[in-house]
Amino acid sequence: MTVSWWRRDPHPAIIRTDVLIVGAGVAGLCCAREVLARGGACLVLERERVGSGASTRNAGFLMRGAADNYAAAVRDHGRERAQLLWRWTEENLALLRADGIEALPSYSARPSCLLSLSPEEETEVRASHELLARDGFDSRWVERGSDDAWRTARAGLVNPHDAVVNPVHLLGLLRAPLGDRIIEGAEVCAMEREGTEIVLRTAHARFAAPRVIFCTNAYTDTALPALRGYVAPRRGQMLALLAPGLRLEMAYYANHGSEYFRAAGDGVVVVGGCRTYHADVEAASEDRTTSLVQHAIEAFATSLFGRTFPVVARWAGIMGFSPDGLPLVGAVPGEPGVFFCGGFTGHGMSLARRCAKAAVAEALDGTPSPFGLSRAVAARHRES
Ligand SMILES: Cc1cc2nc3c(=O)[nH]c(=O)nc-3n(C[C@H](O)[C@H](O)[C@H](O)COP(=O)(O)OP(=O)(O)OC[C@H]3O[C@@H](n4cnc5c(N)ncnc54)[C@H](O)[C@@H]3O)c2cc1C
Repeated sequence: MTVSWWRRDPHPAIIRTDVLIVGAGVAGLCCAREVLARGGACLVLERERVGSGASTRNAGFLMRGAADNYAAAVRDHGRERAQLLWRWTEENLALLRADGIEALPSYSARPSCLLSLSPEEETEVRASHELLARDGFDSRWVERGSDDAWRTARAGLVNPHDAVVNPVHLLGLLRAPLGDRIIEGAEVCAMEREGTEIVLRTAHARFAAPRVIFCTNAYTDTALPALRGYVAPRRGQMLALLAPGLRLEMAYYANHGSEYFRAAGDGVVVVGGCRTYHADVEAASEDRTTSLVQHAIEAFATSLFGRTFPVVARWAGIMGFSPDGLPLVGAVPGEPGVFFCGGFTGHGMSLARRCAKAAVAEALDGTPSPFGLSRAVAARHRES
């Protein structure tokens, strides 16, 4: 979306605070809570409503690690960075527990499992299990599970301390202490500098602060031109099956994280993924389902469970992928006072709380984040 000249108040009021946060998804709300916890003042500017982006459209896995397995992450990022990413996802859940997530009715401490459906994946997932154990993580290897996920599965790696939640409930918890610090219907359409202040323009007002944190994830291209091209929009699609007889004891990932499914209560099972088989079409920021991907998800579920179930809901959400698959957290190069927290590459529920802590620490104390943006900028310079 954009904001036309006609909608812009010619004499907008100016409102000042310590930190401005753009975007009220899980990342923006966590950043705001972190600023408040440090005694600072902040405002969250949200163009639509709290959670209207990916944060209320996901599967609600609070899972250790990234979508693909640990061996793949070690290969892609090196052991130290993979280890740190995995630790951050553990810390993310610990922080959410401290925020009170366990009191939510939809929260459940539920192990997650990386299912291997092929011999090739089994080899890699087993290597991940061994590497995790060597790096001090609690990881279990299961040859045969007892629930309905195991009809064709060969083996699986279990993260025993993971959890699931209805993401709408989680956002409700995160927003509760923020009250009227969240301004909905406030699309940031321009950023200017006035002395030491950064001024964000919306249709009705100007907001000024010495620091701004953008938590706009998949929508960063329009929200923050300085980061254009760094966070790629990727559509994810899901559906809900009415499957009262199906028993799933864990939250499952399969096919290198491409597909995922779990029981969601009241006999409903949510299933998502199949994006990677239609990668060209799903490199999109349009919020709609497509028959291609929806049929692929249904076919996956039918082959996995050996029977069909009625579909009771279908939906999509737009994720923000970083260039290297690691989150982008910290100062925006060339934009003093401007910070970013996003690029979660499909894993923001499991990362945003921990990343928000690091983003706010960098914004307020100057403590550099280990997942800073300079690596992405440097990679782009090397390419050009
Ligand atoms: C189908 C699907 C399944 C997923 N499953 C999981 C899962 O099980 N576990 C997991 O960890 N992750 C999962 N994810 C990923 C997770 O949902 C995201 O990583 C996370 O929600 C990103 O949060 P965010 O706050 O960064 O972005 P968003 O929730 O997208 O929030 C960004 C906000 O910024 C606002 N905004 C944008 N531009 C402006 C502007 N100019 N002015 C003001 N506001 C603006 C938007 O309206 C939006 O509300 C899934 C995603 C999808 C789509």
